[in-house]
Amino acid sequence: MSEPLMVVKDLKKYFKVAGGVVHAVDGVSFTLNEGETLGLVGESGCGKSTTGRVILRLTEPTSGSVTYKGQDVLALQGREMAAMREEMQMIFQDPFSSLDPRKTVGGTIGKPLYIHKVGTRAERERRVEELMDFVGLSPQLYNKYPHELDGGRRQRVGIARALALKPNFIVCDEPVSALDVSIQAQILNLLSELQERLRLTYLFVSHDLSVIRHLSDRVAVMYLGKIVELAATRDLFGNTLHPYSQALLSAVPIARLRRRRERIILTGGVPSPINPPSGCRFRTRCRHEMPLCAEQEPPLTDRGGGHFVACHLEN
Ligand code: SF4
Repeated sequence: MSEPLMVVKDLKKYFKVAGGVVHAVDGVSFTLNEGETLGLVGESGCGKSTTGRVILRLTEPTSGSVTYKGQDVLALQGREMAAMREEMQMIFQDPFSSLDPRKTVGGTIGKPLYIHKVGTRAERERRVEELMDFVGLSPQLYNKYPHELDGGRRQRVGIARALALKPNFIVCDEPVSALDVSIQAQILNLLSELQERLRLTYLFVSHDLSVIRHLSDRVAVMYLGKIVELAATRDLFGNTLHPYSQALLSAVPIARLRRRRERIILTGGVPSPINPPSGCRFRTRCRHEMPLCAEQEPPLTDRGGGHFVACHLEN
């Protein structure tokens, strides 16, 4: 098997706040193969978006490593980092707030080309037109402003902008959660088509399990800054092993997962990431908690066939 495109090892991001230190991402490790989609799912505040931002160095990590095509991303500076930014892009959650209201569609999509000094002005304009065609935007929208577009078209602009520099790797950060349900499927299908056509690799961040299931080859479930389960999508949904993943899946409407499940109600809120529980972080909400769970943190171990679980239960 070929080398993974990306290797993330023991990635940590802590933020100092008034009450202490937030352990937003706390030792996350995974690999990504070329052309695959890894879904990163969990409740709001679990650290999934921060993981994506740290990998792209939109925010600097506290520690850990990110290797992309054999290069240490976190050590790159200046021109080398600028070159890496052409390879690694992001599609943001809210297309409205991620677009400059004073810039036209053409200006927005062409901005990365301008910043990275790609081609002549005429060549950049041609590339913008090509990108608009790629993402299904009519050429008549070239001189329109974000407020003149609906949510779906705004997100298409965000996608075209992310594709401008011909990246290989894209972090999709909740790209459909701000859109109407009717538009969501169109954008998800577009992302799938683009992936196939351009052989893109996605880290797909979402709180929505049905969206994650639709698009991902493998899924990582995050809880309080850590991955608790990681497996091929079929295994994760067909043979869910971690009690937190089981609870998350049980909350998805049955019709959407086409399978009858017992609803597991999680009691209590997510504990503070400033002072997470000892041992297993999920233990304060876990119906299987045992004394060992408070004493030892369960390591993320392979239960066979690349199905990783961090739990002391042997299921
Ligand atoms: Fe529950 Fe213990 Fe497993 Fe944590 S380690 S998920 S508390 S059984």
